[in-house]
Amino acid sequence: MNTETAPKDIDIASFEEKVYLISDELLGILKELSRDNQKQINSKLIADKMSKSESVKKALADNSSATTGNDIVGLEKIADTVIEKLSEIVPPHIIENLSAIKGLSNNKGVPGNSMDWLDSPVGILKKYIDSLSARNKELEDFMKQTLGHLSAIESPLESELSSQQQRFREDKDFENDLSQYINKMRDECNTYNDINLLKAAFLGKIENINRGFEKKRERDILRLKETETTLNKMRERMNEVKREADAIRKKAEEIEIESYRDSLTGLHNRRAYDERMTETLANVGRYGVTASLMVCDIDFFKKINDNFGHKIGDLALKKLADLLRERLRKNDFIARYGGEEFVIILPHTDIKGALVAAEGVRSYIAKSVFSYRNQRIPLTISVGVGSFKNGDDAAVIFERADQALYLAKKSGRNAVKTETDLTAQYEAVPHE
Ligand code: GH3
Ligand code: MG
Ligand code: MG
Repeated sequence: MNTETAPKDIDIASFEEKVYLISDELLGILKELSRDNQKQINSKLIADKMSKSESVKKALADNSSATTGNDIVGLEKIADTVIEKLSEIVPPHIIENLSAIKGLSNNKGVPGNSMDWLDSPVGILKKYIDSLSARNKELEDFMKQTLGHLSAIESPLESELSSQQQRFREDKDFENDLSQYINKMRDECNTYNDINLLKAAFLGKIENINRGFEKKRERDILRLKETETTLNKMRERMNEVKREADAIRKKAEEIEIESYRDSLTGLHNRRAYDERMTETLANVGRYGVTASLMVCDIDFFKKINDNFGHKIGDLALKKLADLLRERLRKNDFIARYGGEEFVIILPHTDIKGALVAAEGVRSYIAKSVFSYRNQRIPLTISVGVGSFKNGDDAAVIFERADQALYLAKKSGRNAVKTETDLTAQYEAVPHE
């Protein structure tokens, strides 16, 4: 920003202040009217109230600050405000990017009447949306609408700025005319010898000045109405943008949650499991806490699919998910590992505790009733249990539990085996 434009900042700040003041007044009036249950809230009524408002009158009385005539500083200020608004409605991790852009536009100076600066924050928003996931199509539609509204804000902003400049010129002209007129009156004073003639001439001139002020007042009222309209349009559009941005954010959050969820069963998915494993391993390493892992696999699941069809197979998976949720503790982390395999991380649980939990779950499922057209479909699981040991990675822990699961299947299914059974088995293998 150059030194010439810097002091005008203050004028713009006070212009904004007035714009907010007028808009607050407007809101107040609307609230008041709606409280009064006035059925006919119309623009005339509002304009009437506005023109009676002391603070609006005061704001409009001094319009020098509204008319700096410096559109670059004006735009820059408005740019800052809009970017600030955008930074309120996008997630925290891109606020930093928005701030960086804000700095950039300040250094460059916002170019003339162009709204190019909007491209950057909007670009950031769009990139953020694009990166979200497979549901981009839906989000893009949202985004297009939002972009449409953002560009719709441009035109009232631009026209407001240019009419501000026009008003500034008109006011300056009025002041010049007035001061010329008064100088002329002073000069004419000397040409009158008769005091009565002078008085009459003066009265006529004062009448002219009055008429001039009257016209100016009418013009000022018109301006107020124009500003109100522009302001309303801008607010409306800003609100639309905000509403849409909120919807996008909500959607993004939903997608974020969904990307960690198995869509069929509603359980955590493999991705969530991987992350939770890393966290649990860190806790085991750092605080020496205990934790165990259960790997469950539905017995003869192929038969369910083959005998009743995949739809019923899917229902069996859902049913199993419900049973797991019902039987296990809130702190237990249940995920669908893939197909008909489920994994459960049991925090603060040693291998003995995990065995009890696994037995509980196994028998709970075995006792449950899963039926189709009054025909009971056997639904049982086999479980392998392993414990977290400091120094092991996720794959090693899983492998131990999976080996135990293999043992459980081998033992006849609908059974639980732990890593301890594995060791016992190895010990039982005679050395050659
Ligand atoms: P067992 O585990 O007791 O040895 O026998 P199984 O029949 O369960 O054996 P296997 O693990 O080989 O078969 C799993 C079957 O699960 C294979 C696949 O068709 C089916 N399956 C995997 N994912 C899904 C799914 O999302 N929906 C349905 N309906 N079936 C699935
Ligand atoms: Mg399997
Ligand atoms: Mg199976």
